[in-house]
This record gives sequence, C-alpha cells and structure tokens, in this order.
Amino acid sequence: MKKKLIISLIFAIPLLYYSVVSLSAPNPICHNCNVIIISIDTLGAKHLSLYNPEKIIAPYLKELASKRGVVFDSAFSQAPWTLPSHSAMLTGQYPWDIGVFLPTDALPNNIPTLSDELFKQGYAVKAFSNGPFVTPSWNFFNKDFESFSGSMAIKDWNDAKQIFTDGLSWIEEFEEKNNNPYFLFLHSFHVHDPYTTTEGNITINDIVAANTDVGEIKNVEEFIAAYEGEINQLDYEFKQFFQTLENSGRLDDTIIVFTADHGEEFDEHDTTAMHLSLYNEVTNVPLVFFIPGIEPVIKKDVVEIRSIPSTILDLATPLKEKLFTAPSLTQIINGTGRNDGYAIMVSAIQKDSTINSIEKVYENIESLDKIFSVGIRNEDYVYPLYSSVRTADWRLLQNPDGSLELYDQHQDPEEQSPVDISKGNNSEISKITESLLELIERNINNK
Ligand SMILES: [Zn+2]
Repeated sequence: MKKKLIISLIFAIPLLYYSVVSLSAPNPICHNCNVIIISIDTLGAKHLSLYNPEKIIAPYLKELASKRGVVFDSAFSQAPWTLPSHSAMLTGQYPWDIGVFLPTDALPNNIPTLSDELFKQGYAVKAFSNGPFVTPSWNFFNKDFESFSGSMAIKDWNDAKQIFTDGLSWIEEFEEKNNNPYFLFLHSFHVHDPYTTTEGNITINDIVAANTDVGEIKNVEEFIAAYEGEINQLDYEFKQFFQTLENSGRLDDTIIVFTADHGEEFDEHDTTAMHLSLYNEVTNVPLVFFIPGIEPVIKKDVVEIRSIPSTILDLATPLKEKLFTAPSLTQIINGTGRNDGYAIMVSAIQKDSTINSIEKVYENIESLDKIFSVGIRNEDYVYPLYSSVRTADWRLLQNPDGSLELYDQHQDPEEQSPVDISKGNNSEISKITESLLELIERNINNK
C-alpha cells in the first residue's frame, strides 16, 4: 500500500551540490597517532543497538560509542559485497572508477591506497584479513612491505577472537622494538554466513533454500537470530580488544575506526543472505571513529565509507595535498564543517564460488534465475548492474533495464513502497527524481 507523502522542496535543495564547508585547514588532530581500522564483513547498521533502538545487539559498541565515539548515523558502502566495497574503503575511489567490479578484478597497481600513503609517512603497516578478496592476491597490502596475515578458508571465518588476539599480539611485539606509529587493519568474517548457532549451523544450503524454494526453508527469524548471535560474539571480543588497549594507555595516541563493508539482507526485498541489492539493509553500515580528545557525538550527515582514507590522513598526518578523491570527514568530526551530501553505490557481481557451490548442490538453473531475475547473464557471469544514490531524504535506485525506484526515507525507511514517479504532473517528485538521477549520471553512468 502506498503511504501518503509529505514532500517539501526543502528536501531537494541539498541535492544540487556536494560540499564540505571548510572554515580552515586544521592541523592534524592526532599527529602521528597509530591508526586501527576494524572492518567487520557483512555487518548491517540496522542490526546494532547503536543504530536501532529496537535492538539489544552489540551492547558494548553502543556503550563505548556513547562515551567516546564519533558516530556517523548515515554511512553507506559503495557496493554490496566485499571486494569493491573494500577497494573504496582503502583507496577513497569509487570502485567503478578503478575497474573493481567482479571477483576477477584486482586493485590496480597504480592506485594509491591508505596503507601506501601511511607507509610513506613512516608508519608500519599490518593487516589481518580473513576471507577472500582483501588479500595480496587482489593487490591489497602487497606493496614494498611484509604486512599481511590471513586465511581464505571458510573454516577460519569464525574469527572474532582470533583476529583481535592476533592484532593485540602484533601491537605488543611491534611496540617492543619500534617507536614509529603503525596502521593496523583488522578484517573479520565472523558475522558472514555460514552462521554458527547453539542449535546447529546455518549453511549455504539453508540460504539456497531460502532463496529458491529448493530444500527445506527455514524461517527468516532463525537466520536473523543466528546472525545477531554472531554479532554479539564479535561485540564481546571487540570489548576485550578495546579494553586491553585502554588499560595499557595505548588509546591516548591511537585512532580507531569501526566500520563494515556492507550489511546483510533477510527477506526485506525477497532475498536472504545474498547481499546483492543496494537497499538500506545492505548498504547502510556502521561508521564510528574513536579519536583521542574528541568528545562523543552523533553526526547525521550522509557519508560514504570511501571517505575513510582522506579522513585518516587529515587526522593523523600533516599532509595538505589531497591524495584521495573522496572528501575528508574531518571538518564534520571537529564541528567546523557540514556535509550536504549523498552516497553513491553500484552492484555488479560475477557468478562467484558461492553461486558455483549452489549450482553444484542444486542443478536447478531456473531457481537461480529467480534470484538473479534481472540482469545480463552469460556463461560465466551473473551481472546485474544496479545504481543508486542515497540522500538524507531519498533513495533513487536505477535498475539494469533503466527503470527507477524512488523511496522517501522519512515515510518509508524500510524502502517497501516506491513513490509513484510516473505521474508527470507531480512537479516536485519529478524535480527530485531528475536531480537524483543527475547525480547517478554524473558519478557513474557518464564515466
Ligand atoms: Zn563483505
């Protein structure tokens, strides 16, 4: 059922430009501080009590953020899956600008990354990253320095305890022998499926069943409970990690960023645990900065996770040169600037190992086509291409066939009832749609 719309032209005004109002070029807030980025694979903001008052999930993160976090309330990933999203998070570039769309796309060698730039500034660099994609095989963390530890094996994905323990051990060993700052990247697959529960695991076959009507279909509530159970485990391990750093006095000169590459979907838009769409449940992710001396605050600005590299350089180094194309969030953080912004995102995926394993188990292509009912398909690729722009007030989604979906974020935050944009006589809706579509055209389609 369509919900009644209350629309103001005020909504459209911020869409006309994207600027961070700069009052000054501040000195680094935390010069030469250590930098730790914690990227939790597949962690949607809507499941966290920090972002959703109806949840009691991840209580420590919420408590900690209320004491010392700069919480971005509307942070969005640039893609719904691991590789392109992390390419944005660690290079500041849109994935489509550097050709990182499909599992076969490695990060180009000539693209500066946050770790490269911090290394040039005298930082040691270390990454612990389980799961595929954010590894040297895809050109992450492989330039000029020994810096990577990780496993791609599914058996190692239940890794929250291990990844935080390894991170702490590395910090302690490093600080015994060195005086320079470090950049530590921790990427956990703990909350990614398959899920471990007290009643038994939820497997890829269960997910296939949920999406295809092939096999025994579990209630979606079981998936959500299992997923959120893993989030709570992760929250507990994060607590041990953070408190150990705090108790040893290390947080006085350490910036910690807590974020995710994308969320997860549980039948909000007909698919479960596939994270291929661009709706809020998949692209709205946590983003919290813990910065020495900065008071806790919640920022409502719509931001992109590709702003993380430029923000870190602003916070921790004296570099004035703009090395990354995405705007820094520093002036939002320190209260001297404002972001009238938007977030852009794209979905395009190759038929990956998950899909191959699905086909191995169920040679039922018709059922797979039901999942990927829209898009271009050839022998090797499932290649839907969705584009979207999200502002504080609206989401416009462009489907592969060019059709559009417009969602009012105030009236319909679950994005269930698209606004009727077919009526040419509704000039306000037409103007809003045109201005949003122009942002997609400018940022994606014209490149
Ligand atoms: Zn991921």
